[in-house]
Amino acid sequence: MTIHHKIDAKTAELIDEAIGELPVKLGSLAAKLGVQVFRATLPAGISGEIKKIGEDQYAIRINRHETVERQRFTLAHELGHFLLHRDLIGDGLSDDALYRSKLSNSVEYEANRFAADLLMPRNEVEKLLKMIWVSEDELIQYASKHFGVSAQAAQIRLGI
Ligand SMILES: [Zn+2]
Repeated sequence: MTIHHKIDAKTAELIDEAIGELPVKLGSLAAKLGVQVFRATLPAGISGEIKKIGEDQYAIRINRHETVERQRFTLAHELGHFLLHRDLIGDGLSDDALYRSKLSNSVEYEANRFAADLLMPRNEVEKLLKMIWVSEDELIQYASKHFGVSAQAAQIRLGI
């Protein structure tokens, strides 16, 4: 699967491997990509940040006071910045609770899109949408557990 045109073949392979088992093991994927991840107490209103810590070396910090599902989305979002926007990160950037940073809204949208694609792979979403014997609420709850995301993120992704 091609998750994004900016992603090289080797990285795409690592991502494919990661999404082969749900919920996606984000920590393990980050480690394979060479990114250090820390759960930390961040300034109020900050969900995550990515910082340059050396020559082509990056670390991601996730606000540990937010829900686990939210932390997963934040990590996936920051990995999106790492893979797609490394040239824009500079020394680092912080994302607030609405995933706004010093970068443009369209760049932030792209990171959110990447996160959704990574956590909730499209072919799996399509499979779930065929579960017509369950109610929409049940489907959202099921998807939320299946993907390890918030009900809200699942609902947006399912488009229901
Ligand atoms: Zn961001």
